[in-house]
This record gives sequence, structure tokens and C-alpha cells, in this order.
Amino acid sequence: MGELESERTVSGKQYVIIGGGLAGARAVQGIRRMDKEGGIVMVTADSEVPYHRPALYKGYLTGKEDLDHVYVKPSEYYVEQKVDLITSTRATQIDRTAQQVALEDGSVISYDSLLLATGGRPWRLPIPGNDLRNVFTLRTLADADAIRRAGQSGERALVLGGSFIGSEVASSLSQLGLRVSMVFPESRLLERVVPEAFSHFLQLKYETAGIHILPGTKPESLNGDEQVEWAVLENGETVDADLVVMGVGIRLNTELAAEAGLEMDGRGGIVVDEYLRTSDPSIYAAGDIASWPDVTFDKRLRVEHWDVAWRQGMRAGRNMAGEHKPYRTLPYFFSDLFDVSLEVWGDLSAWDRTVQRGKLESGSYAFYYFHQENLVGVLAVNRPDSERDPMVSLVKTRPKLEDIGSKLADESSDLSALLG
Ligand SMILES: Cc1cc2nc3c(=O)[nH]c(=O)nc-3n(C[C@H](O)[C@H](O)[C@H](O)COP(=O)(O)OP(=O)(O)OC[C@H]3O[C@@H](n4cnc5c(N)ncnc54)[C@H](O)[C@@H]3O)c2cc1C
Repeated sequence: MGELESERTVSGKQYVIIGGGLAGARAVQGIRRMDKEGGIVMVTADSEVPYHRPALYKGYLTGKEDLDHVYVKPSEYYVEQKVDLITSTRATQIDRTAQQVALEDGSVISYDSLLLATGGRPWRLPIPGNDLRNVFTLRTLADADAIRRAGQSGERALVLGGSFIGSEVASSLSQLGLRVSMVFPESRLLERVVPEAFSHFLQLKYETAGIHILPGTKPESLNGDEQVEWAVLENGETVDADLVVMGVGIRLNTELAAEAGLEMDGRGGIVVDEYLRTSDPSIYAAGDIASWPDVTFDKRLRVEHWDVAWRQGMRAGRNMAGEHKPYRTLPYFFSDLFDVSLEVWGDLSAWDRTVQRGKLESGSYAFYYFHQENLVGVLAVNRPDSERDPMVSLVKTRPKLEDIGSKLADESSDLSALLG
């Protein structure tokens, strides 16, 4: 990095955080709980202080929440905590030998302890018209603002993708009064994550709200003069649209880590140990990009969930500042789809059976997921408080279907009794 122009001044232990998302913000809090004096530099490509991304499709997109509810901490917090916050700037290189990070503005920052919390960037389907005006993805506040503006002047929205982001955005745009169509290649909504009965229940809810669902097909092209007017689908149908939102997944921002020679998991994630340290002990990783050894499932997990960024950010920060405690939290996520607020504990990446507890029509139900006979997770909607702790404990102990299946399905049976 010899040709780089300037070096930022360093005093005391120097923490550098690359990425100003949730994991980065929480790392600041974690470091400051352990070390009030060390220097903290946060470099982020975002133009804003860290904010909560789920709010982008929920309250912020629908206009029910203002910016104050979206930020993780107000901007004054970073001043009070003496964080040198460098926004709208990318880190471009890590020199592990010199323990320095180069920024795109030519400056160099030295670190004693470095956190990578660079998250992901939305992917765009590689189809003609994907760059027309009014074709959006949703990851940043600016994206949400642009979608909201387009929604105010348009009437018809086309959402591409039938997993969580697509389903969440479709429900919010519909609540904004737009006529929404959803197109996705799977045969039903949230196919990989929820059982068929729940999928159909949701689909009915979506259709009742006026959302036109087109499963089992993909867009072939987006067409219009400068801005999209209609989409042509692979099944030959056309869908008119005043705006298009692609919710088709993300690509991880892990090039920096790979180029620095850190161990990667083969699928783009950065390998960390149970303390969230990468293969270089002075570099940590947290949030969407971290592939950690999970104690419950005895395998590496990497998930793109708010709760993981929240907890790993804090744990990484504390560990960087000397605490040295392992990360052992059971993965958890939530999603709001119209009036359905669902919560999931565990690992739903592979499952072959579910057991339902409670009727869908009652508004309070749960699905217990099994893979090769063992419990791997639970999806719960509005279950009684008394079931919360046992539900989570059950997932952690991973009992066998044959031992608990019939009792789980019987709402009158006490879940705590199943913990043995
Ligand atoms: C619209 C939306 C809705 C969501 N809803 C839910 C939900 O309902 N439930 C749930 O559990 N999860 C949800 N998630 C997922 C959750 O928000 C993410 O898992 C979480 O934000 C990940 O945080 P992170 O800090 O790891 O990464 P990010 O939030 O992606 O932050 C990464 C940061 O790194 C910066 N950066 C990247 N590269 C560089 C670089 N080279 N130099 C400097 N800075 C860089 C970026 O600008 C950004 O500030 C949602 C996500 C989105 C986008």
C-alpha cells in the first residue's frame, strides 16, 4: 500500500469496523461496553449512520415510521462514543501484514483489531431491461425512498421473487394501495421455507388483498421506453407495471476478505471460529457474511437474519475488546406478511416433514420442522407466551419425531413436559 497518500492518526488500541450496517453498529456498542478509550473507526459505503433494514419494507416503506425509528442509534451517539465515522467510502484492500486498511479515497487506517461486517448487495436478474428506470432492489434507505416515490406516481407494481423479501415487499406495496403482481419460479409462495398448507393459507391472504400471484415462471424481459411498462414472462404472459422490485437474493460483499487471503467457506461466506475470529486472529467477521460453527446443529451456518447481525455484532465487538466468549445463539428470524407476524427458531435450510400445532384459522399456530427424523426448527405465529421458552428449548435439544410428534400436534399437551 506504499503509494497511498495519507495515514489517519492512531492513539491507544485501534478498532476498525468495515461496514456500517447492523452488525457494525452493534460492534461499536460491544467495544464500548468493554473499552471506553480505544479508538474506533467505522468505514461504510452507506451514506447514512447504521439503520435497521427490516424497517425498509415495513413501517418506512408504508410511511408509518419516520427515520428516527429506522436508525440503530441517532447520529449523536457516534460522536458521543468518539467513533470516527467515515460514510460514503469503500474500503478497498486489507494488508494483513502491516495491519492496515486502504480506503477508496486513498487514505490508510491502521488497526489492532478489525471487524468485517460488509453484508451483501442485492442481485439483479440478468434480463433485458433490468436497468430501466423504475426497476428497483431494496437494500438501502435510498432504495426505499425511490420505491416509495415510484409507488406514489404509479398504480401497478410487479414484484419478482417469492421468498421473504419479495413477499414482504408485495404485502407492503399492496398496503400502499398499489395493484401488485408477484412472479417467481417456485410452485408456491415461500416454497423452500414453509410447508404447503401455510403457503396456501398465505396465498389466499395475498389474493384476497388483490395481489396477482404468478408462480412457476420467470420474467424474460422488462420493456418500455426508458422506464418499464410491461414484463414478458417465460410462460408467454405479459404483466403491465409502473414499477418493478426485484427481491431475488443478494451477493455477499466478501471480496475484500477473499483477496486478503482469509479462509472462505466455498459459498462466499467468511469462515469464523466460535469467537467470530476469522483465520487471522486480529480480524473478526459478523452478520450476513460470517459462516460460524453452530453448536446446536454441529455444522457451519451462515444466515441473513437481523437477529444474527444484532447478536454477532455485539459479541464480535466485545471479543475484539478482550472478552473472549463464544457465540452460541440459536438462529432466529421474524417476518411480517400482512397481519401474519411469524417467528422462526432453528435451521430451516433442510427439512422433510413438519408437524402442525394449532389451526391456521385460529390465528395461533406453529409448525415444527424435522429433518431425517430430528427436530431442526419451529415457525410460530402468535403462540401463547407459555410455549415460547419450551419451543426454543425443544429445538436446542433436537428430539426425534417418533418421540414427540403426536404430542406436538395435540394442543392440549404441555410442551414443557416434552423436554424430558
Ligand atoms: C429490505 C430488507 C428486509 C429485511 N427484513 C428482515 C426481516 O424481516 N427479518 C430478518 O430477520 N432479517 C431481515 N433482513 C435481513 C437483515 O436486515 C440483515 O440480515 C442484516 O441487515 C445484516 O446486517 P449486516 O450488518 O451483516 O449487513 P448489512 O446490513 O448489509 O451492512 C453492510 C454494510 O457494509 C457496507 N459495506 C459493504 N462493503 C463495504 C466496503 N468495501 N467498504 C465499506 N463499507 C462496505 C454497506 O454499505 C453496509 O453499510 C432484511 C433485509 C433487507 C434488505
